[in-house]
Amino acid sequence: MVIADRERGGGRNRGRTLLWAGLPRLLSGVLLVLLAQAGCSQLPEPRRSLIVISMDTLRADRLGAYGYARSTSPNIDALAARGARFARAHSPAPWTLPSHASIFTGLTPQRHATHSWGDKIPSSVPTLAELLRGAGWRTFGHTTGGFVSGRYGFARGFEEYVDELSGFKMTLNAARRKIESLPEGEPYFLFLQTFTVHCPYPASSAHRATFRRQPESVVIEMASPCTVRPLESNFSEAQKKLFSDRYDAAIRSADEKLADFVEFLDRRGEFKDTYLVLLSDHGDEFGEHDGIFHGHTLYEELLHVPLIIVGPGVEPSVIEEQVGLVDLMQTALDLLQVDIEAGEGRSLTRYLGGDFPSSAPARAPVAYFASTEEGTKLRGVSLGDDKLILDLETGQAQLFDLGTDPGEKRDIAAERPSTRDRLRRVLDRHLERTDLGEGGGQALSPEQIEELEALGYVH
Ligand SMILES: [Zn+2]
Repeated sequence: MVIADRERGGGRNRGRTLLWAGLPRLLSGVLLVLLAQAGCSQLPEPRRSLIVISMDTLRADRLGAYGYARSTSPNIDALAARGARFARAHSPAPWTLPSHASIFTGLTPQRHATHSWGDKIPSSVPTLAELLRGAGWRTFGHTTGGFVSGRYGFARGFEEYVDELSGFKMTLNAARRKIESLPEGEPYFLFLQTFTVHCPYPASSAHRATFRRQPESVVIEMASPCTVRPLESNFSEAQKKLFSDRYDAAIRSADEKLADFVEFLDRRGEFKDTYLVLLSDHGDEFGEHDGIFHGHTLYEELLHVPLIIVGPGVEPSVIEEQVGLVDLMQTALDLLQVDIEAGEGRSLTRYLGGDFPSSAPARAPVAYFASTEEGTKLRGVSLGDDKLILDLETGQAQLFDLGTDPGEKRDIAAERPSTRDRLRRVLDRHLERTDLGEGGGQALSPEQIEELEALGYVH
């Protein structure tokens, strides 16, 4: 059953249900559930389950699996070795609300328009939980609130959605109880989110001592250090390094808690028919670009995030191609064999080997970035190693070559004007799209794909 068509390229099943974000708002919510239910009868048995764990604020380069030298993540590394690790996964935004909105909808911030403190995911946009519940999955969310609270639209589609501040261990224990309570063979979608590696970086005193490199004389005396503005703090370099050490300790603490949960899943044989996706919504800065924490820039320390998929049929591998959190929606639907297309992202199942078709990518490995927290007006685009960051207020464009300058220390916009202008054109076309908060919009048109192909960015 097809309600709207669009250009998606090869490698996709014909005749699957397409949910187009441009569908009239009043109809889409009802139709998507009906359509999902219609498709449900053709699903293979047994249907598989999905657990998504968002470790909020976890930057990729602080994990051993992503090359970090300190032993912050032996258990996450072991988990990554069992499945697909995406080496170059990007968040579309450097803070919680727009990034999670993209995870839940498969849309970039430009489209879901949930990128200011007062925004909410538009009711016209289907969420992953909504689609899966409509297709017969049990759906549960357990988060620590804040910008993933139900008031932002994240609870839509969940039978139960907890959004209370709690520790990671409590969250994982609640997840255990939920899994144990479900009848065997009943497929579920479980979304877990934790602020456990977010400032103030909770960790045991032993872990803090292990990871501390700053002398005892370096202290942070403020009562609420996490509330300072990222670009206006007066923290010394030594204090920023102390935060960084505490961050590492918090990751190690979280890693151990996660290990217990994975062991629980293993004991139950859960991975036989359950996928586990581990990701983060953004990173954290410790002075790399003169700021601290997140939400304020589009540099890699805030946008490069871990993305790991483990489960039946997923072969151990490292995928070097650029992918985005915006791809999770379609990937999840394809993993669970729910025959619906939704969002702007592309399915990443083609990279998983094993049981999955590995046709050539149908979409350009393009990542678009946006930042509006703290009043910044930044937008960005990344194509391969080239990355452009545009300040909409000043018109200033910075260009970086991530291949030779992964730390983004050297702006080469003036040296490579043709690359700069090419990325600017790609970004401008992206920004022309109408956001759904204003009642409509569409994914890439055939003309836009053609233009990208002409630029060499579409496979
Ligand atoms: Zn966050």
